[in-house]
Amino acid sequence: MLIRENVPLAPLTTLDVGGPARFFAEARTEAEVLESAEFARARGLPLFVLGGGSNLVISDTGFAGLVLKVAITDLEHVPGPNGQLTFIAGAGYDWDTLVRESVEAGCAGLECLSGIPGTVGGTPVQNVGAYGQEVSGTIQEVRVFDLESRQIKTLSNAECGFAYRSSVFNTTGRGRYVILRVSFALQQGKPSVRYADLERSFAGRSKEPTLSEVRQAVRDIRQRKAMLIIHGEADSHSVGSFFKNPIVAQAIFEELSARLASRGLDLPSYPEAGGFRKLPAAWLVEHAGFAKGYRKGTVGISQKHALAIINCGGATAAEIIALKDEIQARVMHAFGIELDPEPVFVGF
Ligand SMILES: Cc1cc2nc3c(=O)[nH]c(=O)nc-3n(C[C@H](O)[C@H](O)[C@H](O)COP(=O)(O)OP(=O)(O)OC[C@H]3O[C@@H](n4cnc5c(N)ncnc54)[C@H](O)[C@@H]3O)c2cc1C
Repeated sequence: MLIRENVPLAPLTTLDVGGPARFFAEARTEAEVLESAEFARARGLPLFVLGGGSNLVISDTGFAGLVLKVAITDLEHVPGPNGQLTFIAGAGYDWDTLVRESVEAGCAGLECLSGIPGTVGGTPVQNVGAYGQEVSGTIQEVRVFDLESRQIKTLSNAECGFAYRSSVFNTTGRGRYVILRVSFALQQGKPSVRYADLERSFAGRSKEPTLSEVRQAVRDIRQRKAMLIIHGEADSHSVGSFFKNPIVAQAIFEELSARLASRGLDLPSYPEAGGFRKLPAAWLVEHAGFAKGYRKGTVGISQKHALAIINCGGATAAEIIALKDEIQARVMHAFGIELDPEPVFVGF
């Protein structure tokens, strides 16, 4: 297979910043994944797995090893009892196409995850979630190449260790697995409308929404919030939300909430399991002084969403990081809360 040298990575990412890959391979089959991994191992090179590049900040110096783009794009449907249909998709399969096809097949479980960019293989990594669904709710198993044991394995849903924006793939097993295929166990059924924004889309209707209507409503909401990539739109050069919503202990929430109330501010929050509270990072960012549309040279914040740091054209990774640092410092100063970034930083 062809291994190329000094391949620019910025155009392969939505943020569009960063330098080249020293070596670059695109694997269309499992055999090519194994071959690429062997190329890196034999030369003692670090290996980074690239999907759709929608959750990455690549450093300006690039990556001094092998970047392996997984482009396995086959799809299999396995019918089960009682209207169950398992979709087994190659890691390189386009995520939103899979969601559309599941909806067209009358299957519930992925409809709220419409419009998220990237590949199927990228979704288990941070347990992609939106509008009340997470992929952990439907993933049955993940087929991987384990770079440590150099064996192909199948991880069950439990073995993936899913939690909010986290899994074994971005915690204890970070850098260890190349995801080859993901199986989603879906069920013929009704859509899920649990999220307030989504409920509002159907308010006042007597008829229950269909799966396709929910998919369309999610895409419309995402478009209004610059969370749908529209080619040519300035706001599309982002990684989506740059920060996770912080989850804090109830006591911390109460203390902060009381402190802010004395300043006339009403801190929003959502209950989490175990007595924790989830705080909206977008609210913290805006109230720390970063309004939507904030601009500093070539970087800024989306006009439509306070959590989306954008490359306004010609930005460097260093400029993106400087804005990230500034936001984190001001949120810490204003609220004593540490914002944890969501994207993966490569080559820093
Ligand atoms: C406009 C916009 C909106 C977004 N909205 C959401 C949202 O609502 N919810 C959400 O959770 N995320 C969201 N994201 C983030 C991102 O789209 C998801 O995290 C997506 O699943 C990343 O997939 P990817 O293929 O682009 O992965 P990449 O960005 O290429 O990689 C991300 C991480 O996954 C790893 N990875 C990718 N493929 C594989 C593989 N085959 N094997 C092993 N590791 C792999 C990479 O090594 C890296 O660590 C958004 C991003 C953008 C730009």
